[in-house]
Amino acid sequence: MARILVIGGGVGGLVSGMLLARDGHDVTVLERDAAAPPASADAAWSGWDRRGVNQFRMIHLFLPRFRQLLEKELPEAAATAEEWGAIRYNPMRFVPNEMIGGFRDTDNQFESLSARRPVMEGALAAAAARTSGLEVRRGAVAAALLTDGEIANGVPHVVGVRTDAGEELHADLVVDAAGRRSSLPAMLTAIGARAPEEELEDSGFMYYGRHFRSADGEIPPLMCGLLMPWGTVSTLTLPADNGTWGLGIIASAKDAAMRGLKDVETWMRTWRSFPLVAHWVDGESLDDEVAIMAKIEDRHRSFVVDGSPVATGVLAVADSWACTNPSLGRGASIGMMHAVALRDLLRVASIDVPVELAQRWHEVTEATVEPYYRSTLDFDRHRLAEIDAGIEGKTYDPGDPAWEIGQALQAASNKDPELFRSMLKLVGVIANPDEVLAEPGVFEKVVELGGNWRDEPSFAPTREELLAIVAG
Ligand SMILES: Cc1cc2nc3c(=O)[nH]c(=O)nc-3n(C[C@H](O)[C@H](O)[C@H](O)COP(=O)(O)OP(=O)(O)OC[C@H]3O[C@@H](n4cnc5c(N)ncnc54)[C@H](O)[C@@H]3O)c2cc1C
Repeated sequence: MARILVIGGGVGGLVSGMLLARDGHDVTVLERDAAAPPASADAAWSGWDRRGVNQFRMIHLFLPRFRQLLEKELPEAAATAEEWGAIRYNPMRFVPNEMIGGFRDTDNQFESLSARRPVMEGALAAAAARTSGLEVRRGAVAAALLTDGEIANGVPHVVGVRTDAGEELHADLVVDAAGRRSSLPAMLTAIGARAPEEELEDSGFMYYGRHFRSADGEIPPLMCGLLMPWGTVSTLTLPADNGTWGLGIIASAKDAAMRGLKDVETWMRTWRSFPLVAHWVDGESLDDEVAIMAKIEDRHRSFVVDGSPVATGVLAVADSWACTNPSLGRGASIGMMHAVALRDLLRVASIDVPVELAQRWHEVTEATVEPYYRSTLDFDRHRLAEIDAGIEGKTYDPGDPAWEIGQALQAASNKDPELFRSMLKLVGVIANPDEVLAEPGVFEKVVELGGNWRDEPSFAPTREELLAIVAG
């Protein structure tokens, strides 16, 4: 079994560390932030200093694919999350029977296990602390990569990490889970490696988020999807732990008129103008301010360039490999899938043949998580362009059949029990659009029931009304 160093103790690093340690590897996770994880949900929410993660207190939903993998691969961590108050939430339990033809056993796949981000991470950290063979060192920054000194065919081989305190830690494999702002590319070029190929773009979205809690531990009733497009903004309604939930308004970063949403009263007034989600603010607010996030990049890194790895002995997982605008809430699910794929690869591939390992990791990444990354990116780019067209008073018609059919599926899903399930497979990161549409009869039914999606009634204020509401 191998000595493995994981850089980064966020969701991706913790699940990678636990999965690898459970397979018998000797794993150390290095986490930049020094603060120890608090012992309870409330303490994690109110007092955990996690500056290494910009989105730490931003609204999160952990989707069904994350729950499925956590329960299957790390059942103790799933149990800990539940002990900490994570909610089991399945929209199929709240939809009228006539819409779905009654609940079936297979509908359990749509259940998520979710919590506010600090709570889920606190629970994962508690489970990690109990995992034998795993050490999480907090306040330890990976500052540089160590090599064996030789560069074969222009490809350096990484044998460990130097911390910012100057300590040298040797390993058979370094796994980078340092998140969307990981410094791995800079650390690689510093050891003479070619730079990884990077696609990078500001996603163009701006988030305005708030958290609430009910007095009775209940979550507000569902009257529409958790992510809803309402003309030039979208809303997110995200059930979380211990009777809490997160609400978000997502706007285009270019939409200067929406900047007023950073004011609590303006945010509340605007939220109440969306009738199908208005009731979600009827609770105690957990924050005095609106949490704002902008400059959220879509980033993708390829560490195999022109068929050969830029370095060996180091592999990137989760957001360090790729991340997008998070409105679809897929980051933790994709990160978990990626971590499981790494654990599986290390069961069959030898760390002692590092070039082959790096190439196979690239192939496994392309086969498992890349399609989810690409479909997320496609959705986001279209949605942003649709919002920007709406701001200019134009109809968005990109002439892209993939976008048309996706919109048609969303409209049709409310009219047919099977299509409702197809939609939830997409939402839950259980399947990709191609897979769902390839199921017998689905495409034809989507066209028949959703083809006129542009004519569906809107339950949102018009752009003019929205501007007036935000302006007060
Ligand atoms: C606004 C926003 C909302 C989101 N909402 C959702 C959601 O609803 N659902 C969802 O599934 N995902 C969501 N995500 C994405 C999700 O947070 C991540 O995809 C997921 O947590 C996996 O991240 P990660 O572990 O790869 O990185 P991170 O969570 O960013 O963790 C990286 C860790 O590495 C540490 N680190 C960095 N550099 C070093 C170093 N040199 N040495 C040591 N440690 C280091 C950092 O301190 C940090 O703890 C959202 C993201 C954003 C930006």
